[in-house]
Amino acid sequence: MSKRKIATTAVRAGINSDLHHGAVIPAIHLSSTYALKGFNDKRQFDYSRTGNPTRATFAQAIADLEQGAVGIVTSTGMSAVHLICQLLSTEDSVVIPHDCYGGSFRLFTHLAKRGQFKLIVVDQNDQQALTAALAAKPKLVLLESPSNPLLRLVDIAEITAQAHKVGALVAVDNTFLSPALQQPLLLGADIVFHSTTKYINGHSDVVGGVLVAKEQALGEELAWWANCIGITGSAFDSYLALRGLKTLPIRMKQHQINANAVAEFLQQHSAVEHVYFPGLSDHPQHELAKKQQSDFGAMMSFEIKGGVEEVKVLFDKLELFTLAQSLGGVESLISHPSTMTHAGMEIEAQLAAGITQSLIRISVGIEDIDDILSDLDQALTASQG
Ligand SMILES: *Cc1c(COP(=O)(O)O)cnc(C)c1O
Repeated sequence: MSKRKIATTAVRAGINSDLHHGAVIPAIHLSSTYALKGFNDKRQFDYSRTGNPTRATFAQAIADLEQGAVGIVTSTGMSAVHLICQLLSTEDSVVIPHDCYGGSFRLFTHLAKRGQFKLIVVDQNDQQALTAALAAKPKLVLLESPSNPLLRLVDIAEITAQAHKVGALVAVDNTFLSPALQQPLLLGADIVFHSTTKYINGHSDVVGGVLVAKEQALGEELAWWANCIGITGSAFDSYLALRGLKTLPIRMKQHQINANAVAEFLQQHSAVEHVYFPGLSDHPQHELAKKQQSDFGAMMSFEIKGGVEEVKVLFDKLELFTLAQSLGGVESLISHPSTMTHAGMEIEAQLAAGITQSLIRISVGIEDIDDILSDLDQALTASQG
C-alpha cells in the first residue's frame, strides 16, 4: 500500500489490533505488570514503567506521524525535554533559543547552574551569534519554531545542516504546530518532541509529552533512559491522547480557519498595536512559514494599546475566552505571558526575548468564529476606556 496520509494515520492508529475480541478501539491496559509465559520466558511487556501496550500504540502513532523510528511517551512535555538532557555530560555544550518555552528555559538554565552541562543561549536568527555558538561544538542544539509567545520562526533545515556540520544533534519542539502542520524530522532534525497537553490531545484533559527519534539507535538510548529515570507516561493518559489524536488533522483545519480570521480582525482593530502571527504578510518570516510549515498554526500574540491596566480591563470584559495558561485545546484561551507562562523567566530575560507587559497571547479555539470575534471586539473596545 502507498504511504498513508496524516489524517488516515491519525484515525487508524491501533484500530484492528485486538486479536482476542476484535475490539475496534484498542483497549486500555491499566495493569502495572505482566505474567511471564514461564520461567525465563518473557512476553513483549513485563512492567508498565518499561512498556505498556496502550502507551506503545500511542507512541507508534506519533512516530508514524512524524516519520521517525522510535516514539517515547513521557509523563509531561517537560519530562520529554528532561529526557533529552540525559544525552548530555558535564563537558558538553547545548545551544538553546533565547525565546524558548519558559519551562524549557528554566530547566536548561537551572541544570546548567548545577554544572550538568554548558549552556549557550542565543537568538538563532542572528547568524553571527549562531555561528559563534556552533563554534563551541555543542552536543545538542534545541530549536523551537514557531516560538512562544512571539511566534518567531527559525529555518529548521538550514540550522540543522549547520549543526550537523559540527556534529551536534538537533531536537525540535513541535508543540505549537503538531505533526499535522510541520514535520521537523523530514527537515533533517534528529529528535522532535511535543507537549501532548496541547494540540495532540487537544481537549485540555491530559498533561503529557512525546518524543520521536529519527534513528533507531538514538531512540533506543532515549527509551532506555526514559525507563531508567521513570518518566514514561501513564496508560490512561496515553489512551486519552490517542483518542484526541484521531481528530488532530480536522481540528487543525478549523483552528486554522478561525486563527486566520482572528489575526486579520486584530490587525485592523484600533485597540491593537501589533499582531504576531506567521500567517500575516508583514510577519518577518511569513515566507519561511509558507516553505517549512503546511499551514500557519492557531497561536498568536498581540500588543494591546496601553499597558497592564488595559490588559486587565480586556481580561475582565471577555466572556467567551478563558484566561488560562496552556494552549491547543478546542476552547479559546487567552493569557498574559509576562505574569503567566513566562513568569519563571527574570524580567530582564523576558524583555530581551521581546515579552512586554502589554503582550497578550491567544490560543484560537474551534468555537464559531462569529462568537470569537464579537467577544474580542467588545472587550478590546472596552479596554480603551
Ligand atoms: C506546554 C509546553 C511545553 C511543556 O509541556 P508540559 O506538558 O506543560 O510539561 C513545552 N514546550 C512548549 C512549546 C509548550 O507549549
